[in-house]
Amino acid sequence: MPDAPLPHLQLADVQRSVAEELDRIAPVIDELGRRFADAGHELALVGGPVRDAMLGRHHNDLDFTTSARPEQTERLLKGWADAVWDMGRAFGTIGCRRGEWQVEITTYRSESYDPTSRKPDVDFGDSLDGDLGRRDFTVNAMAVRLPGRQVEDPYGGVVDLAHRVLRTPGRPEDSFSDDPLRMMRAARFAAQLGFSVDDGVREAMTAMAERISIISAERVRDELVKLVCAPHPRLGLTLLVETGLAALVLPELPALMLERDEHHRHKDVYEHTLTVLEQAIDLEDRLGGEPDFVSRFAALMHDVGKPRTRRFVEDGTVTFHHHDVVGAKITRKRMQALRFSNDEIDAVTKLVELHLRFHGYGSGEWTDSAVRRYVRDAGDQLQRLHVLTRADCTTRNQRKAARLARTYDELEERIERLSEEEELASIRPDLDGNQIMGILGIGPGREVGQAYHHLLELRMDHGPLGEDRAREELLAWWAARSS
Ligand code: ATP
Ligand code: MG
Repeated sequence: MPDAPLPHLQLADVQRSVAEELDRIAPVIDELGRRFADAGHELALVGGPVRDAMLGRHHNDLDFTTSARPEQTERLLKGWADAVWDMGRAFGTIGCRRGEWQVEITTYRSESYDPTSRKPDVDFGDSLDGDLGRRDFTVNAMAVRLPGRQVEDPYGGVVDLAHRVLRTPGRPEDSFSDDPLRMMRAARFAAQLGFSVDDGVREAMTAMAERISIISAERVRDELVKLVCAPHPRLGLTLLVETGLAALVLPELPALMLERDEHHRHKDVYEHTLTVLEQAIDLEDRLGGEPDFVSRFAALMHDVGKPRTRRFVEDGTVTFHHHDVVGAKITRKRMQALRFSNDEIDAVTKLVELHLRFHGYGSGEWTDSAVRRYVRDAGDQLQRLHVLTRADCTTRNQRKAARLARTYDELEERIERLSEEEELASIRPDLDGNQIMGILGIGPGREVGQAYHHLLELRMDHGPLGEDRAREELLAWWAARSS
């Protein structure tokens, strides 16, 4: 199902949600509010927790903003918190934990927001309104003053929240030129909250997209990961594509919009990809139920080899030979550019590379050997490969879809059966390196590796051989090799 923005909220519901959430977090906000007020400082709950309270979402991570300077905040937290940390001190933030609550308190900032600025102090502000004005979106620019609980909403955030729309407090052009990462954040919040963006925001994103290039790959990546792991990634991705941001941060995605051939016979790969992503999300309970970035990103990238491998055949059909292998290479490059970890890169790349393998299974003709190789090649990505392969079926032909699903069920059952018999996941040859050296009377070296590989291939083809048969096979291989 395409992801449309959700219906409007009623203001009365919003007010009730906030009141309920403030009661739930009362142990924190009442005590902290009193402590800061008694010391002559202002304190307010701000940003994400206020927005999410209005949406009826609860968290135990609470962000505050204060007139107190970091040293003063730190002093006020000692004696109240179980632990205090100050990694964010240069940006005005002191963090702490008390029981189940994580708290971050940041001194008011003013003027432009530059989280990478190495100049602390200079832009500390002295008013809550000033602090709210430099925030990214109106729905994030609301606060609740403590201990009195007055809601501060100078930019109409409540109305925007009820309409589920992202708008900047000031002109979007100014906001995005202060910090171009906010354009990525717009797409991320669209995906997380199911919101749309205001026309002005969309226009500014489109006009200013290329400014994103001044932002570090790591920060872009972090927003992309949050977007992909959100409940409505289609909304965020569509926004990135339509504004031209995707062409800069993930160009493989818009490149999937291939023109259809004149007979409209092959599907739009881009639309197919978004559907595969959503179907992979629907299968996530197989992976533990939490949003799984690797699985989702593999779904997004599985066909990126198609544009480059597309060939029009004379009979009017289209082919994409080796788009799995080509796609895996493209995926690796993109993930390296975005500074993903090697583990994440290896996992996603492997899934892209293997996503087609099942289609050689036909109606179950694979030998046991082919099934063993499938499991072995998938390694620790096997469960995700099951998800990707099942998700990668977007045919409207229900009978065909049902047949594919049944065939895959069958393959999984075979894997199950073989696994029980053979501990497939940890397939090793019947003899280990030491035994090989002993039998052949040789020391460590290249031959041992070659012999090991030979025995592993036999093991894949025939299942367990047993030690005696393996020994015979090894000696036969060695004799043939020496002659
Ligand atoms: P999350 O649930 O992901 O933590 P959040 O709204 O708390 O959502 P954060 O990235 O933690 O988002 O930022 C906290 C608050 O700080 C935001 O709500 C917003 O008000 C402000 N903020 C963060 N980054 C920026 C930015 N780049 N520009 C302007 N304001 C920002
Ligand atoms: Mg936050």
